[in-house]
Amino acid sequence: MADLAPYAANEENSRGRLYEEPAARYRGEYQRDRDRIIHCTAFRRLVYKTQVFVNHEGDLYRTRLTHSIEVAQIARTVAVALDLSEPLTEAISLAHDLGHTPFGHAGQDTLNECMRDYGGFEHNMQSLRVVDRLEAKYADFPGLNLMFETREGILKHCSAKNARELGELGERFLHRTQPGLEAQVTDLADAIAYNNHDVDDGFRAGLISLEQLRTQSLFGDQYDAVRALHPDLEDRRLIYEIIRRMIDRVVSDLIEQTRRNIEAEAPDSIDAVRGAGRRLVEMSPEVYEQHVSLKRFLMKHLYQHEKKLEMTARVQAILEDLFASFMGETSLMPAEFANAAEEGDETARARVVADYIAGMTDRFAMSEHTRIRAT
Ligand code: MG
Repeated sequence: MADLAPYAANEENSRGRLYEEPAARYRGEYQRDRDRIIHCTAFRRLVYKTQVFVNHEGDLYRTRLTHSIEVAQIARTVAVALDLSEPLTEAISLAHDLGHTPFGHAGQDTLNECMRDYGGFEHNMQSLRVVDRLEAKYADFPGLNLMFETREGILKHCSAKNARELGELGERFLHRTQPGLEAQVTDLADAIAYNNHDVDDGFRAGLISLEQLRTQSLFGDQYDAVRALHPDLEDRRLIYEIIRRMIDRVVSDLIEQTRRNIEAEAPDSIDAVRGAGRRLVEMSPEVYEQHVSLKRFLMKHLYQHEKKLEMTARVQAILEDLFASFMGETSLMPAEFANAAEEGDETARARVVADYIAGMTDRFAMSEHTRIRAT
């Protein structure tokens, strides 16, 4: 293992697992977390969950699984450059979207609306719920029993109410402290990954054009540079070349700015990072502004594109129907969920229904909808 910086997460300064376990023989504890995540059911299901484009719209687009792998790839590069824990960074990246519903953000919004009277639904909290409770695989403990730092990285945001129920893990949202650097890196790697792959997917889907994209300086600067070197490059290669340069630009800037921040703050431990009073993992102000501008552009021209909005309406109807049906007739769910739903009050029942629906892939949600309609 490469030498870790004093401010990196490591096994000696870790807050450990909720249930103590003997050490692994051939792996570090964060490697073990990553492996548990890769072996879990929720991880495999990401392959059939929407990122932006609903899975059946085409095989070429990113899904939650390929998105998570791209996040991990970017985050690991940054982690290694900063002497942080690479396996921890990878584990957080691969787990960060485990709680996503089918049908992307339209699915999340709909399920949240269905759960309005029952405490709401939040995909980030759900990711933690998946690794802490819903993946019932191991004989000796509930969930995957991950290390504190992995769970800290998965839980990116949290309401004060939820934070109070989470004990030690929720404290930082009440005291407004920061997570470790591996978590901070993954957070920005997530945003960098989707900004870039959504440009690619959006262009390929014909929803955004090169002319529109050139209005964004992050894209436009690289467009001009590539065109100057390769005037005749066809569009597919052109856009790929631009995107790889955009990723390089933003990631390099992120590493350099973060190095400056670390130098200025000189944290000597992960606890010093947590108490630093600000995030140390950052882009420079100039690049951050370009990054945010591109994000807003994609929001307007891609995520809210009318073709996507049509899809959103269909998705809402499917999930609302499923929720109402399972709430009304719990036996429509598999036995383990049906039994759990019968154990508590209405709020507890709604949570079981939300867990069941959130775990579905896009196509399973559609086939369940068809099945229930036929009954
Ligand atoms: Mg993500």
